[in-house]
Amino acid sequence: MFIDVSSLKKSYTTGVVKTEVLKGIGMNLGKGEIGVILGPSGSGKSTLMNILGGIDRGDSGKVIVDGVEINNLNDDQLTEYRREDIGFVFQFYNLVSNLTVGENIEVVSNISKSPLNIDEVLEAVGMLDKKHRFPRELSGGEQQRVSIARAIVKNPKLLLCDEPTGALDFLTSRSILQLLQQVNKKYGTTILMITHNAAIAAMANRVFKVRSGEIVEAEVNQMTVPAERIEW
Ligand code: ADP
Ligand code: MG
Repeated sequence: MFIDVSSLKKSYTTGVVKTEVLKGIGMNLGKGEIGVILGPSGSGKSTLMNILGGIDRGDSGKVIVDGVEINNLNDDQLTEYRREDIGFVFQFYNLVSNLTVGENIEVVSNISKSPLNIDEVLEAVGMLDKKHRFPRELSGGEQQRVSIARAIVKNPKLLLCDEPTGALDFLTSRSILQLLQQVNKKYGTTILMITHNAAIAAMANRVFKVRSGEIVEAEVNQMTVPAERIEW
């Protein structure tokens, strides 16, 4: 499996209080698949995604991504893994406000090594005509398109999306999910997406339901639904 997580545990300590946030997570996802992690707020979804993306580290267990045990990487190796192999998309886009659309993508590290270029990814997300605009001149959906372009320009092995439609209305959400499906098909990018909207699960190859730090259900969808046909 492209992603292979087993017995992953993670606790946070605040003062003298230790909270176990991940209590032995096991999950896997094949190369080129779309996975969805579903669960209520506070259940540990972002913590799991941050560990997979090399932003954070697990306390114990195995986290293998594309054959590499990322828990065993040293800090420099983990940074390199995060920069080279992982694309992130967040709920609130996180674009740099005083840079244009094109410049927001230009600042991505490793861009020179990528087979893709800025214009190509802006074209792919339908934003090439807005290359010289600033984020404040764009709608939420357009800003999310730019943040997806920024995430894919380095041709990442894994695209991690943390509630990518959490701040968007229904129609815009659907167009962003459609775009993620297109990216998955066009570039073969493996995508793992967090949501608390159960309807989105229909477009995924695998669905993981998380409750208080544990996977309570894992499903494989034999038939995935095109994002434009998701009902919610
Ligand atoms: P979700 O994404 O499912 O809403 P999170 O993974 O963000 O959940 O958080 C799970 C739990 O871990 C929450 O109770 C949260 O307060 C706690 N938590 C997350 N990050 C930290 C941190 N850096 N320090 C302390 N507690 C944290
Ligand atoms: Mg979260």
